[in-house]
Order: sequence, then structure tokens, then C-alpha cells
Amino acid sequence: LEIDQAKIPQATAKRLPLYYRFLEGLQASGKHRVSSTELSEAVKVDSATIRRDFSYFGALGKKGYGYNVNYLLSFFRKTLDQDELTKVALVGVGNLGTAFLNYNFSKNNSTRIEMAFDVDETKVNQEISDVPIYHLDDFTEKIPADIEVVILTVPSQAAQGIADQLVEAGIKGILNFTPARLTVPDDVRVHHIDLSVELQSLIYFLKHYPLK
Ligand code: ATP
Repeated sequence: LEIDQAKIPQATAKRLPLYYRFLEGLQASGKHRVSSTELSEAVKVDSATIRRDFSYFGALGKKGYGYNVNYLLSFFRKTLDQDELTKVALVGVGNLGTAFLNYNFSKNNSTRIEMAFDVDETKVNQEISDVPIYHLDDFTEKIPADIEVVILTVPSQAAQGIADQLVEAGIKGILNFTPARLTVPDDVRVHHIDLSVELQSLIYFLKHYPLK
């Protein structure tokens, strides 16, 4: 079955890693099929949405059977490039950056932080969890052609200048953990994760939209 990636809506694509992680767990525990209701409860996406998402890639659940776990996984693996190791870099080895290096997606062997950068001479040329730390001045020289994503955990005042430098070096995706809003060219994607904004929004929702 050939699937046209371009036809999968972005909202659906964003949920695929969620489905993937849950299905992998199911497969590991020896389960071969799953109902959309079961999936729905586990990943907290309503079952109508799940059915619609799955219909985009031709997985039509059978009544009374559900979905074939192996089929779904093999599809997701292809779509999410899970067969290939995706290497990323990290810039800013402070508290947050260090936590990411120590974690290093160990439970998910398809993504790995390959190298890190900082300007602090006490950090440069050290290793954390086997990840080498280089000076940011050497970014262009050190970064291999197959790394196009950077996790950014620097102070916010430094973020835009560093982003410009990363873009200049050919980086195409930035996962921005700083509160700074970054301006980048159209062909560069920035995903912004601002922990304090997310926390405030959770607190606001708890207060104003209590569950039940
Ligand atoms: P955090 O928990 O946010 O990492 P922190 O207090 O440990 O905070 P910050 O001052 O936020 O440290 O700095 C994060 C890291 O970014 C530090 O390791 C710092 O040396 C590094 N850093 C600061 N300025 C730059 C820069 N211009 N380029 C690269 N790294 C920088």
C-alpha cells in the first residue's frame, strides 16, 4: 500500500508518535489487536478521531476485531522514520540541557542527541552521558550534514543570535525551549516549548474549566 504523505493532515501526523508509543508497548506485551476504544482511553484522543486518522493510511478497523497492531506499527515505523536513527544536536548545556543529555531519549532508540555546544569553557571539551560538548564557535565545523535539528536550551537573550547562526549553518528545525520568540526564514521550522507558559495555561484551565 502506497501512502501519499502529503495527504495526511498535520493534526493527524502530530498524533502518530503518540499512537506509535502506545502500540509498541502493546506489541511488547504480546497483543496483536487493539480496538479504537482501547486506544482512545490510552492516548486520550476520542475514538472517532482515531478512526479518521487511521483511515488516511488505509487501516480500516474490523467490527469486533479492531486494528492489527503489527500492521499499524509497520506503517508508523515507515512514516515516522523509526527504522532510521535521527541524530540531533543540543545547544546550551545548562540545567535543562544537561537533563536532556542525561535522558537522551534512552527509551526511544530512534532519536539521539549526538553532540552538544556551549560557550562556557568549563563545559567545552567535556562529555555528559557520552555526548561530546564543543564550543559553539566550532558549530559549522563540527556539525555533520545529517544533523538538521537542534534543541535550544540557552538563556533567552542569546536565543535569536544563536538561531541565526544555526540557520546559517544549515539547520532546518529548532526545538526552542527558551521563552524567546524566534524569527527564522520560511524554510526553517521552529517548535516552541515554553514550560512556564504551558504551566500557567494548565493552572488557568484547572481554575476556570474544572473537570466535572
Ligand atoms: P537552564 O536550566 O535554562 O539551562 P542555567 O541556569 O543552567 O539554565 P542558563 O544561564 O540558562 O543556565 O544557560 C544555559 C546554558 O547556555 C549554559 O550552559 C550557558 O553556558 C549556555 N550559554 C549561555 N550563552 C550562550 C551562548 N551565547 N551560546 C551558547 N551557549 C550559551
